[in-house]
Amino acid sequence: MDQRQLFRRHLAQTSESPIGLDITHAAGNYLYDADGNKYLDLIGGISVCNIGHTHPEVIHAIKQQAEKYLHIMVYGELIQSPQVQYATLLSKHLPQTLSSVYFTNSGTEATEGAIKLARRATGRPGIISCNKSYHGASLGALSVMGDEYWRNAFRPLLPGVKRFDYNSTALIEAVDTTTACVIIETVQAEAGVLEPGPEWLTALRARCTETGALLVMDEIQCGFGRTGKLWGFQHYDVVPDIVLLGKALGGGMPLGAFISSQELMQNLMHDPVLGHITTFGGHPVSCAAGMAAMQVLLNEKLVEEVNAKEKLFHSLLRHPAIKAVRSKGLLIAVELDGASHVLNTLRACLEKGLFSDWFLFAPECIRVAPPLTITHAEIEIACDRILKCL
Ligand code: PMP
Repeated sequence: MDQRQLFRRHLAQTSESPIGLDITHAAGNYLYDADGNKYLDLIGGISVCNIGHTHPEVIHAIKQQAEKYLHIMVYGELIQSPQVQYATLLSKHLPQTLSSVYFTNSGTEATEGAIKLARRATGRPGIISCNKSYHGASLGALSVMGDEYWRNAFRPLLPGVKRFDYNSTALIEAVDTTTACVIIETVQAEAGVLEPGPEWLTALRARCTETGALLVMDEIQCGFGRTGKLWGFQHYDVVPDIVLLGKALGGGMPLGAFISSQELMQNLMHDPVLGHITTFGGHPVSCAAGMAAMQVLLNEKLVEEVNAKEKLFHSLLRHPAIKAVRSKGLLIAVELDGASHVLNTLRACLEKGLFSDWFLFAPECIRVAPPLTITHAEIEIACDRILKCL
């Protein structure tokens, strides 16, 4: 049986039509498959590989840490230098109030941790989230996900969750003294790139402060420079009570985090003690890799280049079949006239050596979220191929 048949038979499948390329290696902005094809990567592992694939400094950090120790003890008991160093670096680049980092295995677990922390700290039941939001796929995270199609089959979900449209006044009006937290993506990614109105976000922040509800901002997809600033919320004059990180946080290794003030996080220390437990969260190799990746991002000043690259995509993505191009930095949705047009275009792009995807709640859009290391020449090639495939 060849590798493709074994993949279908023994690896749990979640779709009738996986992309199914047999990848042998990845480097920089490219993926390589077993048939000898090379693909320019327009999605970077869904906003994970912001500094490109297998960056030498990340690989070096992984090797160095792997030779010292792998897993040694469950989260929080021993002083593990990669965790401490990375938490310190993150705190240095976050607002002063966001200085206590809880490392998890994934973005989903960061969402779970934040919901637990908000419930525990406020003693309130209510959670408010947005339609078309994505925060993960476990039952808690699914409960705050904003799409009925993906939620419905898994009921019963968490009680006390109310959902409203992103940017709606109704959402702000619903926040009251029974609300533990409001959880939003800074920029809604899977909705096909929807930005918050700055006044809406400011009003939401004020309403949360006034009622004692915690504002949780999910930066799992839009953090680490994706939107043109290190953190998406820096575009708006708002600081969340809890920020969620994942994806690029681990530099290609699995890692998530929920981050708050020291005072807030201390709620997980008592009643009950060990308020959130994880065996592998903050794995030392993941933290070493993530820290190396963040240092590359900062040292190579990749975030500063994002806006010019975004503009170049806009200027080149012009075609009668393109209905709209929505973007925040290098998180770009190219809207066509329907999902089947997107799928046909993606298939044609793959044949021309261009790797991309669609959005969960916006299947009428092509996802363009390349490594931030994509060059201007590569953007020209990518856009030319997309236009030809349309
Ligand atoms: N939040 C957002 C905004 C995401 O895009 C994702 C992943 N697509 C998650 C949370 C969940 O992260 P993970 O898949 O690592 O659990």
